[in-house]
Amino acid sequence: MSKNLVVGYPRIGEHRELKFALENFWSGKNSFKDVEEVAKHLRAKAWNTQKEAGVELISSNDFSYYDQMLDTMILVGAIPDRFKSIQDKTEQYFAMARGYENGVAMAMRKWFNTNYHYIIPELAQDEAFKLDNTKVIDEYKEAAALGIKTKINLISPITFLALSMTTDGSDQFLLFDKLLKVYEELFKEISKLDDEIIVQLDDPIFTTDVEPKLLSLIKPCYEKLANAASNIKIIATTYFEHSNEATKVLVHTPIWGLGLDFVAGSKNIDSLAEIAKSDKVLAAGVINGRNVWKNDIMKTKELLETLSVIIPKERLIISTSCSLLHVPYSLENENKLDNTIKDSLSFAKEKLNELTLASRIFFGSIENDDELLQENKNSIERLKNSKLIHNEAVQSRVGNIAKWVRDGEFSERIALQKAKLGYPDLATTTIGSFPQTPELRKARRDYKNNEISGEEYEEFIKNYIRETITIQEKIGLDVLVHGEPERNDMVEYFGELLNGFAFSSNGWVQSYGARCVKPPLLYGDVSREVPMTLQWILYAQSLTSKIVKGMLTGPVTMINWSFVREDIPRSEVATQIALALADEIDDLQNNGIKMIQVDEAAFKEGYPLRHENRASYEKWAVDSFKLSVSSAHKETQIHTHMCYSEFNDIIHTIEEMDADVITIETAKSGNSLLKIFKEVGYTKEVGPGVYDIHSPRIPTVEEIKTQIALLLEVLPKEQLWINPDCGLKTRKWEEVIPSLENMVKAVVSFR
Ligand code: GLN
Ligand code: ZN
Repeated sequence: MSKNLVVGYPRIGEHRELKFALENFWSGKNSFKDVEEVAKHLRAKAWNTQKEAGVELISSNDFSYYDQMLDTMILVGAIPDRFKSIQDKTEQYFAMARGYENGVAMAMRKWFNTNYHYIIPELAQDEAFKLDNTKVIDEYKEAAALGIKTKINLISPITFLALSMTTDGSDQFLLFDKLLKVYEELFKEISKLDDEIIVQLDDPIFTTDVEPKLLSLIKPCYEKLANAASNIKIIATTYFEHSNEATKVLVHTPIWGLGLDFVAGSKNIDSLAEIAKSDKVLAAGVINGRNVWKNDIMKTKELLETLSVIIPKERLIISTSCSLLHVPYSLENENKLDNTIKDSLSFAKEKLNELTLASRIFFGSIENDDELLQENKNSIERLKNSKLIHNEAVQSRVGNIAKWVRDGEFSERIALQKAKLGYPDLATTTIGSFPQTPELRKARRDYKNNEISGEEYEEFIKNYIRETITIQEKIGLDVLVHGEPERNDMVEYFGELLNGFAFSSNGWVQSYGARCVKPPLLYGDVSREVPMTLQWILYAQSLTSKIVKGMLTGPVTMINWSFVREDIPRSEVATQIALALADEIDDLQNNGIKMIQVDEAAFKEGYPLRHENRASYEKWAVDSFKLSVSSAHKETQIHTHMCYSEFNDIIHTIEEMDADVITIETAKSGNSLLKIFKEVGYTKEVGPGVYDIHSPRIPTVEEIKTQIALLLEVLPKEQLWINPDCGLKTRKWEEVIPSLENMVKAVVSFR
């Protein structure tokens, strides 16, 4: 039996080849044939890399031109009506992903608690599923032709349905039987490929708090599929958390094995006895597929030994905890990182070696691996003892925090603020960023590459700020911003200025479609050397008599969008960041800045998958936010902004954050998201977005008026701010100016 397994491998390409090929295709610079060539090359490379590293169970169908949920829609023929008339398959595929002239793109959502976005299937009760197994079969054969016998990765019908929405308001699970038939047909086709085939059915939905209804689908699903073809071995795979409820059922179905995450889902341990009693194989996910730090092989060995006390060794396979999609490709492309940091990292390719090393050690062919094991031990030790990650001053400050929250109750603060700041009811503002123009990006790039001097760059940024202030004054906004021209990214900008963060040159991770992000590496104790935003905000404020809102990124968002060190708890990292921010706020207010926004864009999306872990997340998230603003004087108005604004279940946590003003993303849902604020008697001020910034469309005055009227049905005008949904950096000036003009016009009629 195979001894190790990789759940899935990144597909965008080590140098983002797929991204560039797709973008060239979309802009008409190359043909789809060219994209296919690139894709084929990338797949071969992924397979061969895994094979060379000694991986035994390698996946096919983990590749995608855009997204694996979209691929599954094609697989089962779930094409929304507005795309059905498109004859060309390729055109149809990308129209679903990106929209076309006769239909808007399908919506996306975050893949569980990762930063990967999948396309949400849109289903209807009359859905006529129809199998199209081309991709699945072709990829298997393609690998086979290269001498690699793959396991086939599929998203399970249960998870597929659970992540879908219906366009007719019906219950998507009513489609279960119909959908299962298509999968059965698929299994029959797969069974013809070889004498014996392994199919990995991904069912991550079971790592969330699922209802009994969903659990009741497990038996019919896995029984039918297992019976559809006797030569297919099914390995039901979950990741990102434990799936103990599902495991209890799965062990009584005719599957071959279970794939469980023992890194993010250490509670899976509770299922071991149950699994042992059955005849199932266990693919134990022990190599972290979500973070980039080197695996401590000795610890992994201990964990595996714990497992093997209960599950016989012959039934264990060593696995990655989830797909390696969520980490960058390889350290081979990093030559700017500090050596100690680089030596403590492990990207996808390096993780393959960790996996095979752990499997050789565990299964007992240790002799020639002594050296590798020693190397691993050395790296772990080196980092642990490195001065780079430990800063005693920071640690002692964290240990001696006297003041965790700011002075004054909200009622007292807001009275002072209203008197001193004098902004009107329904005050208009924006969320922070203004268009990131190509010229701006170029200036930043040139500065980074030493092609323009620091003075030239500063001049450029100041010009942008000056223009941005003039434009906002002309539009007639009440509270202005500097526009964030100095920021490439709201986390990276601060990370680059803070101690404790490092940046890879090529550590790209797919976010959605062709889009990638390069998360900062948060490796050590965080501290602030010098003010980070002061000069820009002060410059902006010097140009106007209106209030300029300072702009910072909060601790929770910095953590959720970085690869965070693992030797200390997140709560402690958050505390360190918060202290640095508190210093920044103090500098800002002492220099005359009266309003400061601390963005927590990723606050909601960072919620744990399981209810049982919520309280501890909320605790450190709220504590660190409050600590960041603890330096604010009573009359300094603290704003926060959150993107994903479904707050029904967390409204009390939002209240506890105690921000004077919160701006949120609500435009697409009228006033429905706002109602919860009224229901709980929320007293602080709220700026619900009045138009969607994700679309290039310019909202009309009438539309915005309608939106404001809806908001006023819920909250009084004294409590409301008027602003767009989110930052404007992805928009063009010619969209932003008329949109904001219309927003201001709309407000005037309500004053
Ligand atoms: N201040 C940030 C901006 O305007 C907030 C971005 C966000 O919420 N994602 O760009
Ligand atoms: Zn936002």
